[in-house]
Amino acid sequence: ARPRVVVVGGGYGGATAAKYVRMWSDGGIDVTLVDPNPSFISCPLSNLVLGGSMQLADLTLGHDGLARKHGVRLLRDTAVAIDAEKRTVKLASGATLPYDRLILSPGIEFLWNQLPGMRAPGARDRILHAWKAGPQTTALRAQLEAMPDGGVYAMTVPPAPYRCPPGPYERACQVAHYFSRSKPKSKVLLLDANEDVVSKGALFKKIWKDRYAGIIDYRPSFRTADIDAGANTAISELGDRVRADVLNVVPPQGAGAIAVDAGLANANGRWCGVDFVTFESTAARHIHVLGDAIQVSPLMPKSAHMANQHAKVCAAAVVDLLSGRAPEPKPMLTNTCYSFVSDRDVIHVASVHAYDADRKTLLVVPGSGGVSAAANETEGVYAMSWARNIWADTLA
Ligand code: FAD
Repeated sequence: ARPRVVVVGGGYGGATAAKYVRMWSDGGIDVTLVDPNPSFISCPLSNLVLGGSMQLADLTLGHDGLARKHGVRLLRDTAVAIDAEKRTVKLASGATLPYDRLILSPGIEFLWNQLPGMRAPGARDRILHAWKAGPQTTALRAQLEAMPDGGVYAMTVPPAPYRCPPGPYERACQVAHYFSRSKPKSKVLLLDANEDVVSKGALFKKIWKDRYAGIIDYRPSFRTADIDAGANTAISELGDRVRADVLNVVPPQGAGAIAVDAGLANANGRWCGVDFVTFESTAARHIHVLGDAIQVSPLMPKSAHMANQHAKVCAAAVVDLLSGRAPEPKPMLTNTCYSFVSDRDVIHVASVHAYDADRKTLLVVPGSGGVSAAANETEGVYAMSWARNIWADTLA
């Protein structure tokens, strides 16, 4: 019988892994991809929906190319339990899938227990995160549109590590861009749990000063300890209260629940440790973990680009392991994150990460990568090309 690979999660990591296991095994390995979502909605570019220059429909794609072109079996279902001994995955529908290798790319779970006020009835329907692109993205845009001019939009940024280090700062630019055009008396308050801007700091701060002075108010070290949902108010660890007309709470994060429940979150109970040569879990054999759910190596961001790279290293290793070959011993990965600071001007950060066999981790290659000199339109064109390329690489 042909070896069987089950992939849980059809986002950036999982969909890429499913495609590449099929391609690199020349169809010799059966691949089943499990995800409850009827479509793939891209988080990258979703801040532009808030800024008003894109629609969610522009970011909504299908998984069907994986089945049609690559022979991946698609199951619209949710994995609810993993038996690592028997090598089976149980699905919400009741079915059980056996595997030789399991690949998990479940993304993130929000740690709501760290914000008790968000348990109030209706709080999470009204106070949005929009940190998983989908209905919340369009709902947050609608809240911004409904806000009267002169209002305040506040966003809480969780302590790092979280999904997409530059994402909150890009979002602040997008909302400020919209306000500057349509509601010039309005304000953006960025309540950041971190001591400083986590990514592209000097560039973002210059843009806020040059383009959005008087609109964006950046408050570092504002560690949100709770939310008073009834009063639309964020409360800091020190007891400071900040009320907003539109409050956007991005909670602290950990690995997707299925990985945590399977006992794979062996880094602080939050993230999943992996062997960076194969992306096999360090907590269970024959199970690989990718994307935002992993405990990252130094300076590795939780990004779609990185999840795509994890997926390719993992897919190659899985094909090798199931064919009785040793995996490539020294993987090398790249990352690029573009951020739109208006509807067309963009900045980027790039890095290269090479495996260090002595330290058993991926380390940034000295002198590689870097950041933009300044925001510019040319990189706006590159950023759109990046998105079209990664969508094709993931899904087509
Ligand atoms: P996801 O892409 O979230 O995929 C996880 C999938 O797993 C989901 O489809 C989910 O339905 C499924 N799933 C979860 N649990 C189960 C289960 N039990 N059973 C079945 N399926 C399950 N990155 C960039 O590189 N560039 C950017 O410009 C960029 N911009 C961003 C902007 C914003 C506003 C945000 C929020 C993120 C951005 N990112 C960007 C980060 C990027 O979205 C993530 O790093 C990336 O999605 C991680 O991929 P993943 O496979 O780990 O998770």
